[in-house]
Amino acid sequence: MADAAPSSTYDVVIIGGGPGGYNAAIRAGQLGLRAACIEMRETLGGTCLNVGCMPSKALLHASELFEAVTREFPTLGIEVGAPKLNLARMMSQKQDSVNALTKGIEFLFKKNKVDWIRGRGRIAGKGQVEVTSADGSKTLLTAKDIVIATGSEPTPLPGVAFEADRVVDSTGALSLSAVPKHLIVVGAGIIGLELGSVWRRLGALVTVVEYLDRISPGMDKDLATAFQRVLTKQGMTFRLGAKVTASKTGKDGVELTVEPSAGGAAETMKGDVVLVAIGRRPYTEGLGLETVGVAVDKRGFLVSDHFKVAEGVWVMGDVTYGPMLAHKAEEDAVAVIELIAGKAGHVDYNLVPSVVYTAPEVAWVGKTEDQLKAEGVAYKAGKFPFTANSRAKINHETDGFVKVLADAATDRILGVHILGPQAGEMIGEACVAMAFGGSSEDIARVCHPHPTRSEAVKQAAMGVEGWTMQA
Ligand code: FAD
Repeated sequence: MADAAPSSTYDVVIIGGGPGGYNAAIRAGQLGLRAACIEMRETLGGTCLNVGCMPSKALLHASELFEAVTREFPTLGIEVGAPKLNLARMMSQKQDSVNALTKGIEFLFKKNKVDWIRGRGRIAGKGQVEVTSADGSKTLLTAKDIVIATGSEPTPLPGVAFEADRVVDSTGALSLSAVPKHLIVVGAGIIGLELGSVWRRLGALVTVVEYLDRISPGMDKDLATAFQRVLTKQGMTFRLGAKVTASKTGKDGVELTVEPSAGGAAETMKGDVVLVAIGRRPYTEGLGLETVGVAVDKRGFLVSDHFKVAEGVWVMGDVTYGPMLAHKAEEDAVAVIELIAGKAGHVDYNLVPSVVYTAPEVAWVGKTEDQLKAEGVAYKAGKFPFTANSRAKINHETDGFVKVLADAATDRILGVHILGPQAGEMIGEACVAMAFGGSSEDIARVCHPHPTRSEAVKQAAMGVEGWTMQA
């Protein structure tokens, strides 16, 4: 896209062109605000489109089909012989899709009359943002409102230095040039388990080392236990309650020092590639926060009051509180811009769903059983296994279950947790029901199409009042 000749005065200047920033810019354009979005990458779309959600899902999809040839096709009576991996082609189709998506944002900017200002933005005082472009030239933009949407970056692990193709973060793990023989994933969170699954399916031996004594903190424990069992059955190995304290890279691989989290003797573990996936941290480097008196907390997140961080300065997405997810950033974006435009704006973080895009998928929204217990909320649970769901059975995808948690007194749905095929698509129903303050009986008495996996959600909801009919 040819750069628009930007006027230097805007209603809103947004720093960062990820799901938070680009959606904010589009909504601002829709509402007739004169908007600019500053992005320092070569392309729009932020972490999500460039090195996050989208490339990881491209590899998850391709590797799932690759594995299906040996694991599922024979069961279905399809005989095609052993599949051959063309990793370069798999990577290039991923990049083609990413390129198309980032171009799509450029199109949406044009459509909504948003200026993309290429370069690094720095707040230079109230209503002022200085942009430094790649050639070092500087432009000063003025705006009634400034929005910080600078996102996050991978958290490094002390003692374990990144090294290209050997010790990598998620970005590196999305572009390895060869399938590792032994991939060690440090951190059993969503990103580690998704990328670990990709490389396991393509032929790597995968060991996941996790500090806690369970995988996927944040996930309902019941679900996490069943999920770990499924991943183990697929061939992943787990070392829980263990911390990595150092790494040494040699010619033939990486040696990690691993200690029990609770203390004890250290041992070494060898792999040829290590993926450090211990979380992400807010990114605010060189942002000039001090010029407008914006505070950060101990972990670097911007402290905000209903998205406002200072007079005329707003924040959204990964760089502030709430789940570090693209769809959360997108909701923040709409709320912030509507507040700037004088409308109401609010996001209920309890209703932000989480999804792990493995096979089967894991998806949940609302409270876990542990959270409800800790809060002293009396609840009832209904559970339904996919072994009893006709569509899942026909497709040989019977791992997992649906669990619906509802208030014991009012029946209002408090949480829905799914481990199963396409759980990510199914969780939307729970989000809508919960946003409307729905009860388990509402889902139980709504007609669901047959045969679909979503019938398992209905049957689990029926289970809350003890009348599950098909298990
Ligand atoms: P970002 O997407 O990080 O965008 C911020 C942008 O700001 C960046 O492009 C950066 O270059 C730019 N920037 C920063 N500082 C400046 C500056 N000073 N000047 C100019 N530009 C600047 N989330 C999901 O919901 N679903 C998923 O499936 C999913 N998968 C993921 C997989 C991986 C491997 C990773 C790493 C993340 C994944 N996420 C997923 C998380 C998701 O990517 C983030 O939550 C989301 O991108 C956050 O959006 P954001 O707009 O807040 O920030």
